Amino acid sequence: MSDAEPAVDPRGADLSKDDTVLRVEDLQKSFGALVATDHATFEVECGTITGLIGPNGAGKSTIFNLVSGFYEPEGGRVEVNGTDVTGMEPYEVAEHGLIRTFQTPRKLEGMTVREAMLVGPRKQPGESFVKLFTSPGEVGESESRNLAEAERILEEFEIDHLATQPATQISGGQMKLVELARAMLAEPEILLLDEPAAGVNPTLQNQLVEQIRRLNEQGTTFLLIEHDMDFVMQLADPVIVLDQGSVLMEGPPQRVQSDTRVIDAYLGGGA
Ligand code: ADP
Ligand code: MG
Repeated sequence: MSDAEPAVDPRGADLSKDDTVLRVEDLQKSFGALVATDHATFEVECGTITGLIGPNGAGKSTIFNLVSGFYEPEGGRVEVNGTDVTGMEPYEVAEHGLIRTFQTPRKLEGMTVREAMLVGPRKQPGESFVKLFTSPGEVGESESRNLAEAERILEEFEIDHLATQPATQISGGQMKLVELARAMLAEPEILLLDEPAAGVNPTLQNQLVEQIRRLNEQGTTFLLIEHDMDFVMQLADPVIVLDQGSVLMEGPPQRVQSDTRVIDAYLGGGA
């Protein structure tokens, strides 16, 4: 296969990957008359940091919502590690190894960073870890293990000093790091990050880049939405370009960056 051109679907995605962790096939979603996801088809190869870019309103966040079970698609199919997860609840999709973060992190009122870490995506929010804080005497073995694991991950991310701070009082950039750390607690095989660098100062952005690289080297696959081209270009390969709900093209970052169709889409999208 080395000299052959990759199999490219009519809408631009490379479908010749042999170790696929996420497969999105002909996905369809509308909001009223607006088609937000239009026959989107692509694959994410195991072990990659795959970028998902496109102008504002291209449908990137909608794809995340569809893939992670927050929206139900009107058509098409989502596979995680070969399992059809289409129509499953978010916690079920999470149990199959796919975890996502949100473009705007949820407000975690009244919690410390350590507590916020334990509101995991694998169970319904609030239900599984409540005991830990209301009746610590009843804490089971698994909860103690989760707490120890949360501490370990906070240390790994070099944010253990934030553990006892109210989650609402840390900076937006620190919150993005906490979100990433928290997602890792669920031991995802593939982690979907929606604009992790947005509103984050350059120092913390560098920290984010380092952490994402480290986690990727340790085996986590990433699908990364980013509006900031520079950020995505230093991390992601390949990069998938979404425009008006469908895949415009896919390729290595340098090729994507200089592609006239991509430049036109960004100019047309007013970005
Ligand atoms: P992106 O993340 O690429 O900026 P989105 O996926 O957020 O784009 O949005 C794609 C399109 O769908 C936009 O036109 C947006 O206004 C619309 N849209 C997204 N979510 C909703 C929703 N919940 N209700 C109505 N329209 C939506
Ligand atoms: Mg978005």
